Amino acid sequence: MHFNSINESVSEIRNSLPAGVLLVAAAKTRSPEEVQVAIHAGIKILGYNYLQEAEQIYQIIGNKVQWHMIGHLQRNKVKNAVDLFDMIETIDSVKLAEEVNKRCVAINKIMPVLIEINSGKELNKTGVLPEDVDKLIMEISSLPNLRVQGLMTMGPRFGNPEDARLYFKATKFAFDRLSKAGIPNVEMRYLSMGMSNSYKIAIEEGANIVRVGTKLFGERSCQRH
Ligand SMILES: *Cc1c(COP(=O)(O)O)cnc(C)c1O
Repeated sequence: MHFNSINESVSEIRNSLPAGVLLVAAAKTRSPEEVQVAIHAGIKILGYNYLQEAEQIYQIIGNKVQWHMIGHLQRNKVKNAVDLFDMIETIDSVKLAEEVNKRCVAINKIMPVLIEINSGKELNKTGVLPEDVDKLIMEISSLPNLRVQGLMTMGPRFGNPEDARLYFKATKFAFDRLSKAGIPNVEMRYLSMGMSNSYKIAIEEGANIVRVGTKLFGERSCQRH
């Protein structure tokens, strides 16, 4: 996509978002130039699925934006991931949380995290099942260098984004329940849901972080992602 249209898309989406909704540019496969145009147009948070890709772009962009991990984090990547990322949106197991905590303790960093919910209960998908989220949060809430700040979900991918609404509702339901639970050290502040085709519906259902790629940058040519 031409740089001008990235510029326009970023402005258009930023202007359309209600106050208080954060826009994460899901930047996988995009060139440094494309990412720089997006930042120039007002993007403040970059989301990456792979540490290695984030590290390459980080060398060019550095700390002028916030960095969110939005893909599945492998435990052997945690050491370097906690160095780079400002938030990890994809905590889905005690073991991963413990590793993140341990590596953060070592560098004296407090890491805000979201719990990824497998809201569609899809097999072979990352994320914790909705019925297991309370237990997971209870188990990790005392880890000293972790701050649970909310929930994230992908939801199943449908042709029709309206079909995702149910899964967003279920995730919001868990979010509200956990807010009221008053678990020490846990703050239900962010609800990260919705992508290019579904972010408007996600916002209607209570999202305050949306992760948008295609609608900012154009179609991805690389299908691996
Ligand atoms: C790629 C990606 C997005 C954005 O998807 P688009 O359909 O390109 O907007 C959002 N969240 C995650 C976790 C992603 O991997």
